[in-house]
Amino acid sequence: MLIETHCHLDYLKAFPLDEIRTKIKEAGITKVVTIGVDPGNLDKVLELASTYPEIYFTQGIHPHDAKDATEVEFEKIRTRASHPKMVAVGEIGLDYHYNNSPPEAQRLAFEKQLQLAVDADLPVVIHTRDADEDTMAIIKNFSPHLKKKGVIHSFTSTKELAEFVLSEGFYIGFNGIITFKKAENVQEVVKLTPPERILLETDSPFLTPVPHRGKENGPYFLPFIAQKVADLKGMNIDVLKQFAYENSLKCFSKLA
Ligand SMILES: [Zn+2]
Repeated sequence: MLIETHCHLDYLKAFPLDEIRTKIKEAGITKVVTIGVDPGNLDKVLELASTYPEIYFTQGIHPHDAKDATEVEFEKIRTRASHPKMVAVGEIGLDYHYNNSPPEAQRLAFEKQLQLAVDADLPVVIHTRDADEDTMAIIKNFSPHLKKKGVIHSFTSTKELAEFVLSEGFYIGFNGIITFKKAENVQEVVKLTPPERILLETDSPFLTPVPHRGKENGPYFLPFIAQKVADLKGMNIDVLKQFAYENSLKCFSKLA
């Protein structure tokens, strides 16, 4: 059994949702977390989770959209935090690679939503790219108050950042990136991450894993990521899947 911990069902176009749900089932995936970050799609994501038993959701302002975030979106996140299927606040964080929003606006939105997660006693889903130093400083401030911690998703950073977030009690989410040829750095991070701290995700429709490059990614490709993690760690695939499954329930306790 597998749990897809990070995808964007509201962005998938290759198949109708019913077909995607069938393919998910056939891939042995029993629960799916769809990440609500598009400010225009926060309601749609909530609706998906309210309609389908296997779908859970999050709400957050992505660092890309930090500059446009208004109190309306923050209030949505705040009021929905008590929804039985809203498993986390996210994805939130810093992206200094694209800097679609000015860094200062990104930091403010990140901190505001971390506080919101503290108040709601929810874990967080963190996106961080080319912003290790500020990410570590901000996590350090909030981590003592954040009882449920969370995950650094789509991990692409350094060993140092990995070791830091692990020491702070966070999980690390790996996706199709680890199947890419030029991903030695992230593959090294897979090797150093203890099996009890690994989450599996596709981040679909982005980052399609090998051997399906060129197609739209979907949660149903999660088994390829599980297999790659097992190979990198020299673990039996079923043992790895069991770890990842239990980690998902521990990280996002509303999934249990
Ligand atoms: Zn994502």
